Amino acid sequence: MQTLISYDPINRAPLGEVPITEPVDMPALVLRAKKAQKPWLALSLDERQQKVMKAYERLAEVEEQLTLLISKEMGKDYRRASYEVAGTVQNAAYFTQEIAQALKAESMGSNAEMQYRPLGIVAVISPWNYPLAMANNLLLPALIAGNSVVLKPSEETPLVADLFVKTLNQVLPENVLQIAHGDAKTGKALVNADINMVAFTGSLAAGKHIMASAASGLKRLVMELGGNDPLIVMASADIDRAVQFAVASSFENTGQMCTSTERIYVDERIADEFEQKVVALASRYQAGAWDQNNVNIGPIVNPKQHAKVLSQLEDAQAKGASFLLGKHHYALPYIQPTVVTGITPDMLLERDETFGPVVAISRFEQLSEAIERANASPYGLGAVVFGGAGANAVAEQMEAGMVAINQGAGGLGPWVGAKQSGFGFHGTAAGHRQFSQLRIINK
Ligand code: NAD
Repeated sequence: MQTLISYDPINRAPLGEVPITEPVDMPALVLRAKKAQKPWLALSLDERQQKVMKAYERLAEVEEQLTLLISKEMGKDYRRASYEVAGTVQNAAYFTQEIAQALKAESMGSNAEMQYRPLGIVAVISPWNYPLAMANNLLLPALIAGNSVVLKPSEETPLVADLFVKTLNQVLPENVLQIAHGDAKTGKALVNADINMVAFTGSLAAGKHIMASAASGLKRLVMELGGNDPLIVMASADIDRAVQFAVASSFENTGQMCTSTERIYVDERIADEFEQKVVALASRYQAGAWDQNNVNIGPIVNPKQHAKVLSQLEDAQAKGASFLLGKHHYALPYIQPTVVTGITPDMLLERDETFGPVVAISRFEQLSEAIERANASPYGLGAVVFGGAGANAVAEQMEAGMVAINQGAGGLGPWVGAKQSGFGFHGTAAGHRQFSQLRIINK
């Protein structure tokens, strides 16, 4: 049997291994999921909610192990990893109830009912940047709706996913939740297998491929894809608050966050002060290993991602951007806190998702120019505006699924990407119901 090795992003030392689900293994795995789904569906909605909630209670016993595995496998500091685990474990009771509530049949007068039925088998395919939270967000509504689920976690973070699934399976009925380890090859085999829905979080390129593959079977899709989030800082903004947000959001999770600030457009009139303060704050960030004190930037997850960030910095350097903090080249595995200004629309830093701890700044004279550049992207996940009067009007023009004024985008309501940042969404009753098939019964 082939195994998948998990590596420490700091020194590439092996941390452990798991068995790979090869394409040839997929039909048998899917058959097991299909058989398990029938009795799972036969339970009432409340029984399924209770079962899932009990399964999540078991996670409390392995919180510390999950936290350490997140830190070791993808490099985020212990504090951030523990928040991710606590969020998953401690919110489960609330979310399972909210989901069950959303999926209750609704009466349409005396003779008709709207029912939220399971789709069958749901593949949850997840990334490495929030290895537990991203899997969990899509797994919970899929399970409670009465589907059986196959989780294909990222090949960068298999150990945390493995412990997560094994712990839940101490309580869940056999094969209602299975795990399929491997890289994109396993993911592709799963998408092409006899399943009914793909709930995916990951890159735009993989999302497009999944959508094309799902077409032949008209498989249902929820896809949470990449972002290239703009931040517009108006002349009327509270500069200190804008600086605080700009740096924190560009560097959060080492910049490896789908809604991290990727491009900043600042009004020329306040740009000098804004840039000076950004540099002062950014230079206080410290890169290092997850178990060191005061570290808030970790390693880049793997050499390929590291090279991608460097290629964007090198491109900016070659095209005339100014480095106010840091430089365009760093040795593996870190990218030190970096602040670049003079970004132009032809630079990769502006055009592509960066996924590294880089603050990328452009100055504007006319607000209309900032809005146009903010929207000139195939992505449309989050967008943020800092400003006083008039910020509302700017926010209204942002082409994104989650827009916010003087604060970070997302977190309230569904998690949703516009344009090529997503397809469907999750969260809130409307999101939970996307993991089900609506059925109308006229009696
Ligand atoms: P990725 O697309 O490389 O991989 C994600 C998962 O998909 C992995 O499990 C991978 O093995 C699998 N996969 C890759 N290609 C596939 C294919 N063709 N068919 C089936 N499965 C395939 O993404 P990543 O590098 O793990 O994660 C980073 C990306 O995820 C970034 O673009 C980030 O913005 C995005 N993301 C989005 C959200 C959101 O909520 N919108 C949240 C987190 C991450």
